[in-house]
Amino acid sequence: MVLALSDLVRFESSELPADGELPRRFAILFPATSLGGEVAAATPVGSGGLLRVRTSAEGPGTRVTLDLEADATPVLFVLPEPFRVIVDVRPAGSAATAPSVGPRAMDLLVLDPGHGGDDFGARAFGLEEQDITLDLAIRVRDILRARVPGTRVVLTREEDRFVSLEQRTAMANAVGADVFVSIHLNAAWEDVVHGGVTTFVLDTTDDTQAVRLAARENGTSETEVGALSRILAGLHRDEQSEGSRALAAQIHHATLTGGRRVLPRLYDRGVRSAMFHVLVGAAMPAVLVEASFMTRREEADALRTEGYRQSLAEGIADGIVAYARGDAPPPDSRARQTP
Ligand SMILES: [Zn+2]
Repeated sequence: MVLALSDLVRFESSELPADGELPRRFAILFPATSLGGEVAAATPVGSGGLLRVRTSAEGPGTRVTLDLEADATPVLFVLPEPFRVIVDVRPAGSAATAPSVGPRAMDLLVLDPGHGGDDFGARAFGLEEQDITLDLAIRVRDILRARVPGTRVVLTREEDRFVSLEQRTAMANAVGADVFVSIHLNAAWEDVVHGGVTTFVLDTTDDTQAVRLAARENGTSETEVGALSRILAGLHRDEQSEGSRALAAQIHHATLTGGRRVLPRLYDRGVRSAMFHVLVGAAMPAVLVEASFMTRREEADALRTEGYRQSLAEGIADGIVAYARGDAPPPDSRARQTP
């Protein structure tokens, strides 16, 4: 169920158990929002775990209630620009929950080479981010196809073309991917002390640099990043978030290890949280890796070589494999690095 809103608004959701005549319900309350004229008071559905959707005015606000079948699982998320609230109702038996220890199902994974087409991403020293992300994603796919033949690997783009941020996760959701990995390169024209590798999971942050990076990667303002962050803060999904953190830890460690085969002093910027639009709609564990710093001369020169790109790709692939195997979390190497 998709609710389209004319503006970014906050809301609350709650689950109510079956009660007499009433089935199990999932309710969303928008405190200061009115219904559009064309919205029906009740929309019967009767499939996929969803019985019907009801809407009603509640004081100055609006309540949207989903009547559910007994075992259906509602998953709530939002999409930016235009702002939408989505409830993905999964019928009984379809909820694939990733165990936190031991091997995880990895039938299909989606790799997302950042940017493409008119959106070239960052540019530095004659390199364009969109070319490097695609090259890395193709390498990761080829490595995984050889190493884990039972796993399907899908790319959100296989050539230099524009794909919207929303389409990228929509694609992963549509094919029921087990993980989503978005590949980018960092850049900053302000004076940064270190380059290096950063791996992000979706979450709210007060870190100015992360907000600025997210705004640049999203193509939006820092204000918008802040507003959406506050809404997302109320939408925390423990299971997906735990999976994303486990995946990020493995990918981060392995990418850094791969990169350091060529650049031994490659800096560890750590696993961080930020509000990346490309991760907002993902229903599965999802991470964004900024695999190097294009605006650092040494890293840009290395990115020009096949050897370095292959080492980074092997790292990303190693991280995905370690996550699928359910390996123990890697040690936090940040404490041990030389500045
Ligand atoms: Zn990027």
